[in-house]
Amino acid sequence: MTNTRNTLLEIKNLKMHFPIRRGLLKRVVGHVRAVDDVSFEVFQGETLGLVGESGCGKTTLGRCVVRAYRPTSGEILYQAGDGSAVSSNGSGQPVIDFARLTSRQLRAYRHEIQMIFQDPYSSLNPRMTVLDIVSEPLVIHTKLRGDALKSEVGDLLRRVGLRPEHMNRYPNAFSGGQRQRIGIARALALRPKLIVCDEPVSALDVSVQAQVVNLLQDLQRELGLTYLFIAHDLSVVQHISNRVAVMYLGKVVELAEAKRLYQNPLHPYTEALLSAVPSTNPDITRERIILTGDVPTPINPPPGCAFHPRCRYAQDVCQRETPAWRALEDGHHVACHFADQLSLTGVN
Ligand code: SF4
Repeated sequence: MTNTRNTLLEIKNLKMHFPIRRGLLKRVVGHVRAVDDVSFEVFQGETLGLVGESGCGKTTLGRCVVRAYRPTSGEILYQAGDGSAVSSNGSGQPVIDFARLTSRQLRAYRHEIQMIFQDPYSSLNPRMTVLDIVSEPLVIHTKLRGDALKSEVGDLLRRVGLRPEHMNRYPNAFSGGQRQRIGIARALALRPKLIVCDEPVSALDVSVQAQVVNLLQDLQRELGLTYLFIAHDLSVVQHISNRVAVMYLGKVVELAEAKRLYQNPLHPYTEALLSAVPSTNPDITRERIILTGDVPTPINPPPGCAFHPRCRYAQDVCQRETPAWRALEDGHHVACHFADQLSLTGVN
C-alpha cells in the first residue's frame, strides 16, 4: 500500500447532531451528538482505520461521508477528479464540499465514493439476482445495457473471486464471505476512488475474514483505491491500515501512523483498547485494562475531557477543560492534557 500524501478527503469540524423530539408537538428537547467536531484528512491510496466502541459515532461519520446523512455543520472536502469545482482549497485543485451539496448536485459525484456495508446478509436484496444487484448502479448512472452490461458484471464478479456463470443466482445461494464479495463488486461497479468500508468483515467467520481483507488489499493495489475502514476489531485494523484514528463519544481522540499508534499510544483510551489485542509474543503478558464507569451518553457528554469518568490518569483539570486536539511528532495527533507526560503501554 502506498501513501502519496495527496489529500483525497478532508473532514473539517464535522458535526452530526440528531434532534430528540418529545410530546404531542414533537418539540426538540435535546440532541444526540453522534459526531461532534471531528477533523482529519484521508490521503490518496491509503487505508485510514477508524476504531472505537459501539456507539462512538464511527458509522455515523462514515454515513456522513457518503452523504447518507446530511451533516449538522462542518465540511467534507473531496478532491474531485473532473475539474468542476464548487470551491477551491487555494492550491488550484478542484475541491467539492459534500456537506453542502443538494441531493441533485450529489448525483454527479455518487460514483466517486461508495460504501461496503457490515452485514452481507441484510445489505443484499434477497429478491434480486446477483446480476440485478451488481448492475443496479450501472443502470442508474451509465448507459450500459444488454450484453455489455452482463459482460461488465461478469468482469466485476471475476475481479472479486466469484464465477460469472453464477450471476443469475440469488444471494441465499451464497455463503457469508461470497455475499460480501457481491457487495464489494457492487461497490466497485462505478469505479470509485474512495470506499467507506463499514465493519466489512465483522459479521463473517474468522476463517473468512482474512480472505476478504486480503481481497480488499489486492483491489486497493490494482485499482489505486482509498479506504476509510471502520471497525471495532483492532487486530483487523492493524493489519490493513496505514493510519488509524480512534473515536470516543463522537470525537477523534488520537490519530497516527498505524505502527506508531499501536506501539506508542498517547491517549489513555487507545491504551485501554489496545490492552484487549492479543499479543503475538506468547512470552509477553500484558495487563488488560478494564474501563470502569458507565459509558457516558452522547446526549449529555461529561464536561472537560469526555473520557475523564473512565480514565485511570484523570486529574482535576480533566473535569474542567476540554483537551485541545494537537499535533505531536510525525503526524501523531492526540487530545489529552497529559499526552506528553504519560508513559502508556502499546502492542509489541
Ligand atoms: Fe485522561 Fe485527562 Fe487525558 Fe482525558 S485529558 S484522557 S481524562 S488524562
